[in-house]
Amino acid sequence: MSAPLIKGWCPGALRPMETGDGLVVRVRAHGGRLSQDQARGLADLAKRHGNGLIDLSARANLQLRGITDHAAIVGGLAEIGLIDADQASETRRNILVTPFWRQDDGAQKLARDLTEALAASDLPLPGKFGFALDTGENPVLRDSSADIRIERAGHGYHVLADGALSSAPATMRNAIATALDLARWFVESGGVHDGRGRMRKHLAQGAALPANFACPLEAATPFSPSPGLTPQGRMVALEFGQIHAETLAALANLAPLRLTPWRMLLLEGCDHQPALPGLIIAPDDPLLRVVACTGAPGCSQALGPVRDLARQLAPSVPSGGMLHVSGCLKGCAHPGAADITLVARGEDFALGYDCKAQDANHSSHPKADLLANPTLLMTRT
Ligand code: SF4
Repeated sequence: MSAPLIKGWCPGALRPMETGDGLVVRVRAHGGRLSQDQARGLADLAKRHGNGLIDLSARANLQLRGITDHAAIVGGLAEIGLIDADQASETRRNILVTPFWRQDDGAQKLARDLTEALAASDLPLPGKFGFALDTGENPVLRDSSADIRIERAGHGYHVLADGALSSAPATMRNAIATALDLARWFVESGGVHDGRGRMRKHLAQGAALPANFACPLEAATPFSPSPGLTPQGRMVALEFGQIHAETLAALANLAPLRLTPWRMLLLEGCDHQPALPGLIIAPDDPLLRVVACTGAPGCSQALGPVRDLARQLAPSVPSGGMLHVSGCLKGCAHPGAADITLVARGEDFALGYDCKAQDANHSSHPKADLLANPTLLMTRT
């Protein structure tokens, strides 16, 4: 298998990326929330200037696919308040917000303050460097990609570096400054190489945190997201993290939308259970046990289509297990290890267990064999 191309940067609204089905434009909602007008506007832009498909990324951003008129998209996004002043501000505004924030818990103020601080900053942070505002009663974003995290601690907060076992105490007044100081320490202590770098790797290579990051970190209660009713509204999952513009427009008529990094949307303040195409509303739906990237033909690097196979194999995946079907070794849909992994390589799929896409090398099977005999997925010996 040929090595996939590593681009080392993420698309944005101002910096689209060319893929197999046209341009991809990534939209970063402020505070992880779309008002009803913004959600309707996005759906309309996706229909008029794209192929109508919208991805929800693992960083809770939305990607409009198949864009044919980028200038029209930029103009449309500006009208609904979803565009940054310039590319540098957009790239730096990598902020994940817990979808379980409450009006009075300070999360949205922290998001606004961090947005302003990053826009005013001259820090040369890597494109993938990000922040998580995980300020609910319990942290829920520890498994989501971020380099600097702000979490609730008693009546205040703590700021922690991803991968560290200790944190710095903070208040609403100084939490953002503490986070920015940590970002500056990351840059000045050599965390960035050729424009790339992540906090966890920097610490693993022996970098010692500043002295104020010395409070022992408590283990978080395990969190497992699921469709259903929450105190903040109803969560619905998206098949393969993708939604059609028509479905997004229908959801926009129900409630403002909070974006999550789990391929789910939270319908703010809504207890209605919407039955719309492509939505998963039952927590035991087999489709929640499979992840699959765009694959062919939408991704130019894909060595085969993947989603139909994943959909058909889903009922064969044991409850509690996860099947990852990837279009190439890059494993975009699930960068970590999965219980079962299939990687397209032309006519066949490489099968692996408890591994990342790049390590799937247990055996190899044609798609037709996997569909005719799904127990092949369980032949670990
Ligand atoms: S993993 Fe999938 S989406 Fe990512 S580059 Fe490979 S084929 Fe494309």
